[in-house]
Amino acid sequence: MGLFIAVEVLKDKCVGIDECGKCIEVCPVQIFAGEHGIPSIISKNEDECILCDQCIQGCKPNAISIGKKY
Ligand code: SF4
Ligand code: SF4
Repeated sequence: MGLFIAVEVLKDKCVGIDECGKCIEVCPVQIFAGEHGIPSIISKNEDECILCDQCIQGCKPNAISIGKKY
């Protein structure tokens, strides 16, 4: 979890990287990672989130939540 931003992938909604992987593809600051299964969050990059909304828009099952902690 970042100091200012908390990005979360809801495991029960995400369809997985093999089937989708959109978040990994679109995030300009590499917050999502992984090759199979559910994407993992790279905590050290979380505060780099520019709130561009691309992951949210690209995630069809609405599995991503971005919380502002400030
Ligand atoms: S809002 Fe933009 S910068 Fe933030 S996690 Fe999503 S794609 Fe990455
Ligand atoms: S975009 Fe959404 S459904 Fe697709 S891999 Fe990322 S979190 Fe999962």
